[in-house]
Amino acid sequence: MIIKPKVRGFICTTAHPEGCKALVKEQIDYVKAHKSAANGPKKVLVIGSSMGYGLASRITAAYSFGAATIGVIFDKPASGNRTASSGWYNTAAFEQLAAEDGLYAKSINGDAYSQEIKDKTIELIKADLGKVDCVVYSLAAPRRTAPDGTMYTSVLKTVGESYTNKTIDLRNRTVSDITVEPATEDEINATIKVMGGEDWKLWIEALKAADAIEDDAVTMAYSYIGPAITHPMYADGSIGKAKDDLFATAKQMTSDGTIKAYISVNKALVTQSSAAIPIVPLYIGILFKVMKEQGCHEGCIEQMCRLFNEKLYGGNVETDDENRIRMDDLEMQDHIQAEVNKLWDKINTDNIAECADLDGYFEDFYKLFGFGADGIDYEADTDADVKIPSITE
Ligand code: NAD
Repeated sequence: MIIKPKVRGFICTTAHPEGCKALVKEQIDYVKAHKSAANGPKKVLVIGSSMGYGLASRITAAYSFGAATIGVIFDKPASGNRTASSGWYNTAAFEQLAAEDGLYAKSINGDAYSQEIKDKTIELIKADLGKVDCVVYSLAAPRRTAPDGTMYTSVLKTVGESYTNKTIDLRNRTVSDITVEPATEDEINATIKVMGGEDWKLWIEALKAADAIEDDAVTMAYSYIGPAITHPMYADGSIGKAKDDLFATAKQMTSDGTIKAYISVNKALVTQSSAAIPIVPLYIGILFKVMKEQGCHEGCIEQMCRLFNEKLYGGNVETDDENRIRMDDLEMQDHIQAEVNKLWDKINTDNIAECADLDGYFEDFYKLFGFGADGIDYEADTDADVKIPSITE
């Protein structure tokens, strides 16, 4: 079929297999060109490995250190006239390219929050790798069914008071004010259940109980802090409460045993998850403009390559006073944030193109689904039915 993007709000319901493959290849090439001589992990489990930061982590581990990787994904194959999800195509491409390069890569498709998928993953680790020495926890999910069967839905709201600020309507590129209402106590608790540390800890405990993780393994999950304009929505909002819980879980896991658990505070980037947060996409559009102009812009792969090669495995782990790894170091530089603030104050619908890099934003958004890759003929008839080598559906 000829596959075109079909965008609904902040989601695209189609994905392009050849485009996804080209973009995965681009990330691999980036890592090959930027890997350090650091001694890194060799057997890596990435939970949430099909898109965004998780995919970039998997690619980095494999191509910086030759690591064998097992990825947990939650994606759909093609069926009828529907394409597969882009995470499906990314995973298929990664496995194919890794195999060509002699690297072990297998994936498990299903709900990472479930016991069934934990059991399946551990079975695969035991059979093929014995133990893992690094676990990346990179889930971004709207809901979770907890072990007792209760389903929790996360919300992106403020805590305490409502907050009004500018936002962008991505459909027509207009700027207007939005008021985000505070979450209820139940909504905050549900968000913590979905995006907090409970499930991360369950994974590590299950791996330990099965003797499927090395005693000196490293595990990390990702968080975001950002500048004051985003705080009511993010760091101080319902998602921020979940991230506080994630952070507390990291501290607890590290103090409980020999495994080192880290939170890496990453840069704000266009991913399927961040597109859904009010106010944040407008901030990202402005941030991209400023960071590109200053020559310090990074995407997921640049961030993860720097995390693994320089901050985590380059010798001593480089952390801030609270033991967090700061991959947002470039984003949070004073001169960058001062410029962002100036543009934030003046941006409106009329001057949006001069104040924010919306073209860059949309380029990244379409690339999430495999559209806009160099060298791909998007008018060509394309086979949407792509298999992931390690997955039998
Ligand atoms: P993403 O949407 O690109 O990726 C999330 C991944 O989780 C996808 O591969 C998805 O398939 C997978 N997933 C979701 N639910 C799942 C489930 N039930 N079972 C298995 N897999 C599942 O998101 P992202 O932006 O890369 O986010 C990853 C982490 O990074 C999150 O913790 C997020 O808060 C954090 N982070 C993101 C940003 C940003 O700006 N995007 C910045 C800092 C930190």
